[in-house]
Parts: sequence; C-alpha cells; structure tokens
Amino acid sequence: MLWIANCLLADPSPREGALRVEGQFITGRTSHLAVKVSTLDARGLTLVPAFVDAHVHLSVAGDAGLIAREELRRGVAGVIDLGAPEAALASLDLRPLRVRFAGPLFTAPGGYPTQTWGRDGHGLPLTTAGEARAAVGRLAAAQARFVKLAFDPRGPMLAFDVAKAAADEAHRLGLKVAAHALEADAVRLALDAGADVLAHTPREKLPADLLERMKGKWVISTLFAFEVAPERLAALREAGARIAYGTDLGNERTAPGIDPRELALLKAAGVDPLRAATQDAAELAGLKDLGRLSVGGAASLLAVRNLEPEGLSRPVWVMNCGKMVV
Ligand SMILES: [Zn+2]
Repeated sequence: MLWIANCLLADPSPREGALRVEGQFITGRTSHLAVKVSTLDARGLTLVPAFVDAHVHLSVAGDAGLIAREELRRGVAGVIDLGAPEAALASLDLRPLRVRFAGPLFTAPGGYPTQTWGRDGHGLPLTTAGEARAAVGRLAAAQARFVKLAFDPRGPMLAFDVAKAAADEAHRLGLKVAAHALEADAVRLALDAGADVLAHTPREKLPADLLERMKGKWVISTLFAFEVAPERLAALREAGARIAYGTDLGNERTAPGIDPRELALLKAAGVDPLRAATQDAAELAGLKDLGRLSVGGAASLLAVRNLEPEGLSRPVWVMNCGKMVV
C-alpha cells in the first residue's frame, strides 16, 4: 500500500489531494495533503490519469512491441488502433498497453488506402453487403471493438449498401463504427451509413445540417497529422460532438507518446486537452478503468510539472497499473 501525497490531482480540474495505491488499483482518494506511512512525496507535481490515444496504427509505426513499450514509458496507457491487417490482429495484444482495435479499413476494390500506405492488408476491398457482414463477423470474433469505413474520394468508394450493411452488422454485434471522412460529402455518406465516430476532424467546413447530425457522436482530433484548422473542431464541439484526443501515430511526423502539438491544437479549438485525452478518450475506447483518478480505477497515472501541453507531454514519472514504468 502506498500513498502518493502532497500534490494536485487533475482529472481534469486540479485540486489538492492524495491517492492510495494498492496492487494495480487506486483504493483511496482524499482531499487532505496527508503525509502517511509509506508515502511517495509528489510535492510540486500534479497527478493526471494516464493518456489514451484514440487513433493510432501500431503496426505502421514500427515494431509494435517496441512502440507499445515507448507509449507506456511516455504516459500513454491505452490506444485505439484504427487500421491494421486482419493477419496482424493477434499481435496487437501488447499488454500492459491496453489496445482496442478496428482491423482493416473497409473500402472499394482499388479504394483508399489499398493503393498507398495500406497495400499490405490495411485496406479490405469489399463489393457486396454479404461480404461486408462476413468481414464484420470475423473481426468481432477476433475481438475488434470498432469497424472502420473509408470514404475517400481520391479513389473508388465503398458502395453505399455495402457500407450500410457493415455498419448495421457492427451495431448488431455491439461494435462502434468509425469512418475516415475528411470532406463534407464523405461525412454525409458516413453518417447516412451509420457511423458513430469520425476518425479525423474533417478538413472541409461542414454545413449546418451535418453539424447538427454530429450532436452526441464522436470526433477523434488528429489535427496535427492532417494539418486541420482548429476552427473545424471548434464548430463540431459547439454542435455538441464528443471529442477524443488522437494523433494518428504511424502517420508522417508522429512519434510514440503524448503529442504536445496535438494538445495545443485541441486547446486552440476550445477543447480541454487533458479531458479529451483521458476520460473522454477512455470512454470512447471502452476502457472503463482508465481516464480518471477514482477509487476502483487502474493506478495508471502520470506526475507532471504543469497542465500545459509541454508539461503534460513530459511526465516526471509514469505509473501503470500500480507499477512505476522505467
Ligand atoms: Zn489513421
């Protein structure tokens, strides 16, 4: 049993307090700066929940095992992998990093991303509704929690009935439907098909009717990787969309760990970056024991010097499931 004391606790608003850790879990929380036996003194530091990155590609970023270790060391305890070949899904069990995944992007033959970065099975070409339902069934059996549909006008696009069949089957099996849709027309198709999550902030300005339809749905930020104006995300936030932090790790100019550039862009969009990267991203991922500093949750947390993007991205120390990560 250990008390981490003399610090601020921010999940996301900071207040004074101390946490008790036993085994893998947080078992106590007090507002007193109590110094007790077996205390880890965190004077001058703020504890925040470990981060969840809601959009990564572990198998694209490099050796998935090494990437997972780097993620944990730098403060990311959970991820959603939004694009990996079916054959690679078994290798995404990278515990203690918590991984939720979608598997390959559903697309048309020759469609995005099969002609570019997704040649090796990252895209799954589908032509009929029956094929789509069968693919969702395989992914659900492989423990996927998401299905991802690609709507990219640079190539042939998934036929609407195929996309709709995939989304309906995913919902029937309890999976969420994420969509790659960067333009207004693509977002419209994605929503018509039944998408719950936009895997990126759309690059194009969305008309009022589409913003209205995003109320209560999810958007994963990826503002830095896709060079999207924060105003696009601000409009979605104002329309009532839920926002989760995501970096698109594996894309160009990304690296394992917490990205201060993405956090700064979230802030510019009027979104609390800490909340988007902890409790909200954890909720989207379905990782119920992450994202908060609450009793019963995993003792997965970071000690940081301040809550600014640079401070958050460089934790002084990292604890994962009650163990210091080195
Ligand atoms: Zn991606």
